[in-house]
Amino acid sequence: MTPWFDPKLIFVGGQWRPCASGETLPVTDPSTGAEIARIAKGGAADIDAAVCAAEEALAGEWGALSAAERGRILFRLGHLVLEHGDALAEMETTDVGKPLKQAKNDVVALARYCEFYGGAADKLMGQTIPFSEGFTVYTLREPHGVTGHIIPWNYPMQIIGRSIGAALATGNACVLKPAEEACLTALAFADLAAQAGLPAGALNVVPGLGAVAGAALTSDARVRHLSFTGSVATGRRVQIAAAEHIVPVTLELGGKSPQVVFADADLDKALPFLVNAGIQNAGQTCSAGSRILVQREIHDDLAARMADAIGKLRVAPAMEDADVGPLVSARQKGIVDGFLAQAGADQVLAQAPLPDDLPEGGNYVAPTLIGNIAPDHPLAQEEIFGPVQVLIPFEDEEDAVRISNGTKYGLVASVWSADGGRQMRLAKRLQAGQVFVNNYGAAGGVELPFGGVGQSGHGREKGFEALYAFTTLKTVAAHHG
Ligand code: NAD
Repeated sequence: MTPWFDPKLIFVGGQWRPCASGETLPVTDPSTGAEIARIAKGGAADIDAAVCAAEEALAGEWGALSAAERGRILFRLGHLVLEHGDALAEMETTDVGKPLKQAKNDVVALARYCEFYGGAADKLMGQTIPFSEGFTVYTLREPHGVTGHIIPWNYPMQIIGRSIGAALATGNACVLKPAEEACLTALAFADLAAQAGLPAGALNVVPGLGAVAGAALTSDARVRHLSFTGSVATGRRVQIAAAEHIVPVTLELGGKSPQVVFADADLDKALPFLVNAGIQNAGQTCSAGSRILVQREIHDDLAARMADAIGKLRVAPAMEDADVGPLVSARQKGIVDGFLAQAGADQVLAQAPLPDDLPEGGNYVAPTLIGNIAPDHPLAQEEIFGPVQVLIPFEDEEDAVRISNGTKYGLVASVWSADGGRQMRLAKRLQAGQVFVNNYGAAGGVELPFGGVGQSGHGREKGFEALYAFTTLKTVAAHHG
């Protein structure tokens, strides 16, 4: 996999250039541990240059474009993403370690975000407000100005699409700091955006360490909105930094999302979702439905079915496109191994085999089903971010709601039941930003507002809702007598 651009450069003001320090960071293939490229180690001076370029874009060509023209650029960008789909998918697979078909899904999602927000760009409208005689009052939706975007490594393309897509559609100028573990598709996206005709400075990409480049972006007073996706600990720092300049923040953080399976559920339909939600991207998914709550009378049946399915999963290097690839880094593998060490032998209900011929330097963890565990055990409370599913029995509806809502998180939840009344009751009572009924994730749906409650964060991205987040509302009251 050789990118068509030079990954050692940063993209600022429509130009590729080295970062100020000239230093680089390694890009490692999680499947083998081999270094496959190097990226720039951007720092405060590079963030400063990127913010300057974004301000110039707003004062120049980008700021003067109509909403329809911004939409047209996003459409062209979506087409280019699809045209380069194979290269982008291979890049993501070797950078993140996700099986190729999952990276291909991410390509399609990125293109869909470009289409969705391209189409929405000229459909965001203000209101006229009936007011006192002699006044005409209306509202204008205006861009914040320079927006900062800090993203994690697990779904770079999808998160770029939902965050940058909505910010550009509404006329902001963006500075993107991708995660140091996975920057390649962010750089590729910047190159495709330029090819699509995006004016210089409207999108700037500066790879670098979070504590340096990321912190510089969050503490820059010229950045008027911050969109952060990542861990709770870093999200807290970002919100504190934003408070210094009274800047709005969208925080998309972690989760420990429950899937609640009642005795009357269609288990044949549910099973693939219950397994998949835990192993997609090797479980490194913020919205992973990784707590399976099962009604006591079907516990043993469901446990046996899940154990059988998980035991048969195939683990292989990401380019082999098996069910599960490696974790993104040795560090992440260490975290997941640490969680698994907390499970007693009687709590490991099933594990997929790790083939003997897996490359030695790869970060492989066997997909695992855990059971016989109390709802307050760390394995049932903490985000593991690995291919681990946890099974917890419950007695009745009341018990299910109590256990479901009994973590610090609230990102996603699902209810599996044939009872319509129960579906509606739980949809209301489960504390989460999204609740799915008899499905999980709705195939990612770019149209569906997404975000959390509690320590899963606040603010919404995706769907039309993101357009409100990336704009500020101005009320105009004209007195004409
Ligand atoms: P992380 O918080 O360590 O890093 C995320 C980003 O923040 C990276 O770009 C990193 O460089 C940057 N960063 C680190 N320190 C910073 C600082 N001091 N100032 C500014 N930026 C800084 O998270 P991670 O381990 O890369 O990602 C995994 C976490 O992300 C998980 O908890 C997962 O649930 C969460 N996540 C959430 C969503 C969502 O939409 N809710 C999506 C994907 C991942």
